[in-house]
Amino acid sequence: MTKNCHEDDLNDRLAEREWMVQTQLMGRGITDEAVINSMLIVPRHKYVLEEKQEYAYYDSALEIESGQTISQPYIVALMAQALELMASDNVLEIGTGSGYSAAILSRMAAYVYTIERHGILSDIAKERFMIQGYENIEMYVGDGTLGWPEKAPFDAILVTAGGPVIPESLIDQLAIGGRLVIPVGDKGEQKLMRVKKVKTCQLIKEDLGSVRFVPLIGTEGWGESNIKN
Ligand code: SAM
Repeated sequence: MTKNCHEDDLNDRLAEREWMVQTQLMGRGITDEAVINSMLIVPRHKYVLEEKQEYAYYDSALEIESGQTISQPYIVALMAQALELMASDNVLEIGTGSGYSAAILSRMAAYVYTIERHGILSDIAKERFMIQGYENIEMYVGDGTLGWPEKAPFDAILVTAGGPVIPESLIDQLAIGGRLVIPVGDKGEQKLMRVKKVKTCQLIKEDLGSVRFVPLIGTEGWGESNIKN
């Protein structure tokens, strides 16, 4: 059996995942084989609301519990590719949401630590990881803008919500040579930024294009005062 996956899940709606990978990912410049394999294997329809399952392989984000979203498959793949993961990497994800991107990353890296501010989302994702046999994902409910200092340094950090700035705590917790991918901008639209930590005080920042994410809410993100979710 393939790592972290039951045989039934591999075949369940596989043709739709193959179509998704061909048309939405490979057709748009996703070339990383580990990303493509993960997206072929992880059953996205098991990470969305039951009434949205028929749309699970469409080219779009979908609403999940707590007023949040599971990102568009192409954006998940773009971010995973931008992290330039190696099989031995320790990864931190901010914004567990449905658990889908953590599952994708966990197939490409050694270990994934994922933080979510909504306890209900974390509980639902935890159950999915258990059912699907993912054993290299650790979860925490709290403010991900502060990172997870006890588990640092991280080879890669993925933030799946949009913040006003790049949180200093996350840069501090990035290993030398590490990569941080984060949407940065206003609440409507952000730039997907990749930050590479070359040395302690030397960062290379790249703009990977425009994206739209739900807000990153926390100490080093947007304040809670005028935001419902
Ligand atoms: N990775 C998710 C997936 O695969 O479904 C996408 C999640 S959604 C686009 C972004 C998530 O970030 C939301 O679930 C939201 O509650 C969470 N979030 C926002 N601010 C956060 C923070 N400071 N710490 C942890 N999670 C946060």
